[in-house]
Amino acid sequence: MQTYPDSWYAATRDDYPDRSQLDNSIDCDVCIIGAGLAGLTCAFELVCRGANVVVLEAQSIAFGASGRNAGLVSPGYALGIDKIVDKVGLETARELWQLSVDGVEYVRARINQFDKKLLMNQGAYHVLRINNSSSMLIEQQQMRMNFNYDLDYLDTENLRAIIKSSRYYSAVYDKQAFSIHPLNYALRLAAEIEKLGGRIFEQTKARAITDTRQRCEVSTSKAAIKCKNIVFATSAYDHQLHAELKKTILPVATYMAMTEDLGDELDQLITTNAFVSDSRRAGDYYRKIGNRLLWGGRISTRRSKSVKVAEIIANDINQVFPKLGRPEMSHSWYGLMGYTRHKMPLIYPFGHHLWLVSAFGGHGLNTTAMAGQLVASAINDNDDRWKLLKAYQSPWGGGIMNRAAVQIGYWHLKVKDWFDERNQVKNT
Ligand SMILES: Cc1cc2nc3c(=O)[nH]c(=O)nc-3n(C[C@H](O)[C@H](O)[C@H](O)COP(=O)(O)OP(=O)(O)OC[C@H]3O[C@@H](n4cnc5c(N)ncnc54)[C@H](O)[C@@H]3O)c2cc1C
Repeated sequence: MQTYPDSWYAATRDDYPDRSQLDNSIDCDVCIIGAGLAGLTCAFELVCRGANVVVLEAQSIAFGASGRNAGLVSPGYALGIDKIVDKVGLETARELWQLSVDGVEYVRARINQFDKKLLMNQGAYHVLRINNSSSMLIEQQQMRMNFNYDLDYLDTENLRAIIKSSRYYSAVYDKQAFSIHPLNYALRLAAEIEKLGGRIFEQTKARAITDTRQRCEVSTSKAAIKCKNIVFATSAYDHQLHAELKKTILPVATYMAMTEDLGDELDQLITTNAFVSDSRRAGDYYRKIGNRLLWGGRISTRRSKSVKVAEIIANDINQVFPKLGRPEMSHSWYGLMGYTRHKMPLIYPFGHHLWLVSAFGGHGLNTTAMAGQLVASAINDNDDRWKLLKAYQSPWGGGIMNRAAVQIGYWHLKVKDWFDERNQVKNT
């Protein structure tokens, strides 16, 4: 039985048959744990190379962040490119940037190959909520100069002709970015893996790992899978399965909701179907789907089901577009992102036969595509491009103290955002 949160994506998902639970022991080349986009892309790339692959999913395909995110496919990482340059230097940062662009193009190519309808909206605006247009111009120039990447700059007048909110002052527009239905993309990728001979089992939780020089095995409650390699792609949904996950992955929640039909007023206020996100530390992100708004925002290390997501998002919408009032929501949900302290993905081998492919944070749609290719080509073809991320291996990330530090840091940043905007209102 397919299990999904009550999201708009789950309500509009394409029809695919359930997959069975694994209840007998089997052998394979690579056992992938977790059928999010990291695990699925890795599986797809491996079966394309002729490997015998098994994917284990504790719930249903893309039950985690991959099936419930905002759907924006754009280049970059959760960590800003300026910080990456500071850490690894411009030359390596350029290579990392290019890998992230290749991740975007990989998803575009798969969509062109599988079903063009999976691509829903073209383009993305990154808007600034304070009147400091020079920072956007600098971003635009640096992206062109250092990374050969073109962004269009919009001043207040041009921006507000497209998105009519007095909260916004300037923006950059990325014409290469696009938005997808991420759950349907993942479901289609799973179907393609099976067409090529890969085996996927749902409702099959990996419970223990054996990794000695002689033996590599995953155990579930009913079966054992003998294999040559294991790939951990469980992200924030299981960071207890192995000590390496426990010490590195920090689960961070973020919220989303879909409004009811907002009528013609919406088209008056937002004249574009492109994705919009603001530049605050944990800002809003949204896009129009018909006469409705798919809106997300905020982060928290708390995963309480009692958080009133619909109410919080209705208030956030009201702040940006007061004319919309506090819209009713048809669906509201939250998802967990896997973060590390350094905010970069974890892609590396460890133990005797193990690979970690996790921690894509809030920038996972291009980077899971990148990671799946890197790990598959490392396992199958000894490609060592994953080493470009070597500077970002295995930080200490989990634990209650770190979670508390992140939550306090978040509140601090929210206060800074509020203060910046308040000063803004006073000064204009
Ligand atoms: C609300 C939200 C909005 C976002 N918006 C964007 C966006 O617009 N653009 C963008 O680029 N990124 C976005 N992200 C981030 C992106 O969704 C993630 O980085 C990415 O999907 C992570 O993929 P993953 O495969 O690593 O993890 P997940 O998709 O979380 O998959 C992990 C899977 O492992 C399974 N699992 C866990 N433990 C076990 C086990 N023991 N045995 C078997 N299976 C197991 C889980 O059930 C789950 O299906 C967003 C995330 C959220 C939550």
